[in-house]
Parts: sequence; C-alpha cells; structure tokens
Amino acid sequence: MAEGDSIHRAAAALRTALVGRPTTRFDAPFLVGPVPGPGRIVERVESHGKHLEIVWDDGLVLHTNVRLTGSWHLYRHGERWRRPGTQVRVELHTADWIAVCFNAPVVETYREFDRSRHPGFGSHGPDLSRPDADLDESINRLYHYHDQQAPVCEALLDQHVAEGIGNVYRCEVLWATETHPFAPISSLDADDCAYLVTSAAALLRSKLRHSPRVTATISQPGSFVRSELAVYGRNGQRCARCGDTVQVCQPGEANRLVYWCPGCQVRRSLEAREVLEVYEPVREMDPHPAAAKFLSNLPWRRHHPLAG
Ligand SMILES: [Zn+2]
Repeated sequence: MAEGDSIHRAAAALRTALVGRPTTRFDAPFLVGPVPGPGRIVERVESHGKHLEIVWDDGLVLHTNVRLTGSWHLYRHGERWRRPGTQVRVELHTADWIAVCFNAPVVETYREFDRSRHPGFGSHGPDLSRPDADLDESINRLYHYHDQQAPVCEALLDQHVAEGIGNVYRCEVLWATETHPFAPISSLDADDCAYLVTSAAALLRSKLRHSPRVTATISQPGSFVRSELAVYGRNGQRCARCGDTVQVCQPGEANRLVYWCPGCQVRRSLEAREVLEVYEPVREMDPHPAAAKFLSNLPWRRHHPLAG
C-alpha cells in the first residue's frame, strides 16, 4: 500500500471509518509531537503522494509518510492483524474500528496553526515550468526537505519542493545532472540542490517551447535541446553518454518506475547505497527482457560499490 493511489484509497477507507468518531485510544511508540487527547473527534483524513494525515477537531494533525515500506490498515476490534505488532507505528481506536499504520518511516504530530510552517505540508513549491518561478525557493525546499533520508528521486516528485516535474522528467533531470536516483537528500549539498532545480527548470521550460519531449544534450548536462529522452523507457539500452546499460526499478509496490544509468549517474552514489540497503525496495520489473539482466546485475547484490 506504499503507492500514491493505494494511500488515496486507504485515506478514503479511514475517512469513512474515523471521521466524526471520538478517538478512544491512541498509541504511537515513535511519535514525534503531541498526542491527541482522549475523546477527541477525527475531523478530516487527507492524503497526497505517500503522505497521509489525520486531523482532530482540536487542530492536532498526525502526519505519516509511508514512503517505500509503510502502509495503513483498517481492522475491526478482535480481527487478526496482517502484520506483526513490532511493525506498528500508529494505533488509533474508535468504538468500531482500529486504524493501524505499519512501518512508516515518518510519524509526527503538530498543531494545525503551524501548518504553513511545516515543510511537509506547507504550500506547494514553485511551478518550475513558469519562467518567473522562484528557483531559490525551490532549491531551499529541496535542501531543507523535511525527510532528509528520502531518496532524491522521491523528493523531486514532491509538489512541496516544486510543481511540474513528474515521473518522466525526474528521471531525465537525475540523468542530466549525473545524480544517483537513490541518493538521500542529506547527502546533497546546496550546490547539488541548485544544480538539480535549475536543470529541472531548464528542462521543463524547453519542454514547453518544443514538442515533443526534449532532454539534456550529452556534452552540456545543464542545457537542453530537442531530442529523445535520455533514460526514461530505455531500460536495457545503451546510455548515450557513457555506453553503460540503462536500468529500471520500481522502488515500492506499484510505484512509478525509476530509470537510470549506473555508469554515469554516480553523484552521491556511495550515500545512495546506504538508502538502498535500508529500504530494500520491491523490484517488480518491467516485462522487458532487460529486467532479468538488471535483477542479476543489481550492484548492491554484487557487493560492489555502486556504479563507477
Ligand atoms: Zn551513462
């Protein structure tokens, strides 16, 4: 249930079960932030991306990010849970239901009046396809991303960092900047963030000027010309820049595919290895023949340093 649509469905189920009902019990062993008072009524359940939030009538907000590993389940009292109790991160009881969040890396609460200051749920980031987009704002949001262990490929899809990137162009921007897609945000310095955001803006703006899609030139990673996509959809093909084989993986159930070149996307690759070891993403592959080759050649399975 780690994919956006699944979270959306989970939110719909939780909304039906919880909204308007008093909370009879609340446990969250690793919670950062205040705890909802007994009897507080659930007012709203909202989701976007992999974020799900539950809002009580006193303005307390529970924010969870299930990322690659977590999920929300809904059970009747006495019903057998489908995951072990050691994986429970949130347990919210009402008279009729128990909502349980398993394995979410981010579980925190805050008061709603702080909402605009909360980096995970503040206003959306600048729309990078607009010529007047505030790139410094977007760079700042990426650098100070609320989940510093999140892989950069995930943060680039977060609308609170920037609007308009999407799955195709996050892959292309990571290729253009030679950045490993699973580098954690904490490994990026300010220059890395600036390079990513300015490259994304250049790519998106040139996309608007030219159609069909455009991507980076080989010789000048920061500039873009009309051409084919460099990595997106090209698993199993040779990288135009270094000749290595473009790979693909699906970091999470039914998540959007990440395409990248292990030969030249080596920026922050050592730090990326740590992220991959922690999350051990589910690798449901494209039906492409390259998938089997890819699986057998996963660098972290070969126990090599990643790429290069
Ligand atoms: Zn390459």
